[in-house]
Formats: sequence, C-alpha cells, structure tokens
Amino acid sequence: MASKGISFLNGKVSNGTVMLSWYKTTLLFESNEQDEFSEFSVYRKCADDFAFGSDYEEFFCGMLPESSDLIYCGPVECSNNRKYLFQDKQAEMGKVYAYFVKSRTLPAVGPVPLKIRDPEVWWSYETLKSRLLQLQQDYPAMVNLQTSGRTVEGREIFSLKMGSGVTALGLAGAMHPGEAGPELIISALEKILHESPEILKKCAIVVIPSINIDVRERLAQGRPWYLRKNIAGVDLNRNFPVNWDNIGKEYGLSTDDPDSATYRGASPASEPETKAVMKFFADCKPAVIFSFHALAGICDIPAIGAGNVDQSDSEFYELSKRFVNAYGTGLHPELTPDDSWLAFAGSGGSLLCWAWQELRIPAFDLELSMTIAPEALQKCRIDHTDRCLLEEYSIRHSRAIINILSNFHLTQ
Ligand SMILES: [Zn+2]
Repeated sequence: MASKGISFLNGKVSNGTVMLSWYKTTLLFESNEQDEFSEFSVYRKCADDFAFGSDYEEFFCGMLPESSDLIYCGPVECSNNRKYLFQDKQAEMGKVYAYFVKSRTLPAVGPVPLKIRDPEVWWSYETLKSRLLQLQQDYPAMVNLQTSGRTVEGREIFSLKMGSGVTALGLAGAMHPGEAGPELIISALEKILHESPEILKKCAIVVIPSINIDVRERLAQGRPWYLRKNIAGVDLNRNFPVNWDNIGKEYGLSTDDPDSATYRGASPASEPETKAVMKFFADCKPAVIFSFHALAGICDIPAIGAGNVDQSDSEFYELSKRFVNAYGTGLHPELTPDDSWLAFAGSGGSLLCWAWQELRIPAFDLELSMTIAPEALQKCRIDHTDRCLLEEYSIRHSRAIINILSNFHLTQ
C-alpha cells in the first residue's frame, strides 16, 4: 500500500471562494485503486495569529491537521479518473486558513495556506484587464490602452496614455506585488476622467498600472504572506541597468544574493517586466514619474528620489522638491510641505536611478510614514487595507495627480 493517497494538493481563491484540487498519487492511479478514494475528508484550520509582513511560508510548515475543523466528509467529483476539485464557499473574507485533505484510510496531506482577500482590494489579472477595457470603452477619445510587453509567465503588461497635451506625468504600480498599484491608480484615473477631464486637454498621463502581474495574481489567489520579487525570483526595482555593481545591503539583505528578497537578477534588465517599463518610459518621456510602493494597496508621502545624483546638482533637488510638494499637497491639502516629504536612496538597479541617469526624468517611490498617516500605515502594514481606505486614498491620489498636472508650468 502507498504511504500517501494524494499528491499535488493545491489551493487558490477566486472571488472569495476557495478552490482545492488534488490528484491520486501515481502508484494508486496505476493500480486502479478505487476504494481509497470513495470519500475524502477536508479539514480547515484558522490561522488567526498569522501576521502579514512578519510571517512567511515557514509559519505553516509542519502544521498538522489536529485541532482543525472537519468541513467536509464524502465523495468528491473526479475528472479523468485522477483529479479532484473541491470548493469551500464558507471561507470568511479576511481570514487566513490552512487546509488539509485526507483520502479514506491514508494520512492527510497539507497544509495549503490561503488568505481570503477582498477581490475589490486585491484585483485579479482578469479584473485588471476588464477595468482597463471598461475605461477605454467609456472614454474612447481620451484613453489609449496598449500592451507594452509580457511577464515571465506571458501575461500582458498593460499601459495607458491619457490626454492630448505634450507634457506627461508618468505613473507606475505594483513594481513590488505586495504593495500599491492598479487598484489605487486606476480608481484615481477614473475619478479624473469623470470629474475633471478638461485638464487632460493641456497635458497627459502615461501609466503602467501593474508591473509585477504574475506575483500579484498569487496574492489575489490567496498567498497569505508579503511578496516582493517577480516569479523568477528577481526584485524588479533592483534589475534596471544602472549602477549595477553598487551592491545594496539595505534591510540586512544583499542585492547580489539570489536568496535575498532584494536580489537584482543574473544580469541588468534580465526580466521582461523591467524591459517593458524601460521601453514605455523611454518612448513616452514623461516629465516626472511616481512609482507606487508602501504596503498592501496604498501609498503616500514620503517620496524617495534618486540618490545617485551629484550632490552639487541643486537644479535636480529643487525640481524634485517642487514635484513632491505638488503631489504631497494634493494628497494632504491640510498639511504644509516640509523636509520630511522627500528623501533620497541610491539603490543600484532601481527605476529611480535609471530614469534620472538615462532619461533625465526625476522619479520617486511613494511610501508611507508614521508621522503623516499613522492609521493608514497601521492598517496596510498588516494587510488590513479595506474598500474604505482604498477609496479615501484614490480620492487623495486623484487630487495629487491633478495638482501635478496643473502645476506643470511651474516645473518647466
Ligand atoms: Zn516597494
């Protein structure tokens, strides 16, 4: 008799429903064993103490089905005499679970860890695509939707050009998949098109709303922990062909270490996502780029600018300050700009350094700070961003974008 009845146990969430799939092991499939698979038990354990940003895959390793809830016992439909599919429609939004599956007499397999994320807060690739197509359909004269490349797994990397003016604002989302991107950017753009379309007669917005789409899809499908790299294991914000030999050691990680969450990749611009971003911004030449970072769907000031600039380049610093103050004032009309709004980092391989060095475009990573937005930071750092916070931030960013566009004449 085989030691396990089940292999390739897998799970994903689709629109709030958990879908588990598994196969008969090769040995039992070949021996045409039927009785062992006449019924299955599915167990679910609530992982309430899992902490996004602190806990990773190891949290679940070695977890046993003991003390978990038996949520189903009975026959499961089989396809091709080998594959089984099971749906758990009772899983609760926002919860993290570990699933186990057991055939009739052999030991249970698992865990399969899943977080049930709100599909309105974490868009799937399908949602991204349909929201973009809808935008183009609603504003055909204003929105030009294109594909600027394909990811490692072959998904389309979408780009948008909006408006008829020459001077453009550039936006980039989800360079790091566990951070901010399409949900915030596209919602903000929808508001601008709806409420202030006249501004786009004088200028333009050029956007890649979601760069790291493959891994974003893993999060939308329920991978519980924070993810930063692309599916090939490369930190895209260290993969640009700039200051390549400047090995970054931030966060106690090393950009030349393939095990590190900040790994730069095997060679400059090795990743198709990096190439797509480079080509898009080199073609469009926006006056400034804001790249959305921070955590779990939202971002704010401070803005981080390219730190590889000659310290005597006061023109760059003045220009940076004007752009960041304009964006920040739109985000927070109640605040007065101060020095804490803008910082600089010189990571080798970053979009910021590449954009300035190669294209002379000032570019900024938008993050979040405890002094400016303590409540928002407390929520998003544990992946508790909800529809309400996302809506608040899409209003803030639509104001910030309009503020940049209406102040372009001051930065020329
Ligand atoms: Zn980031």
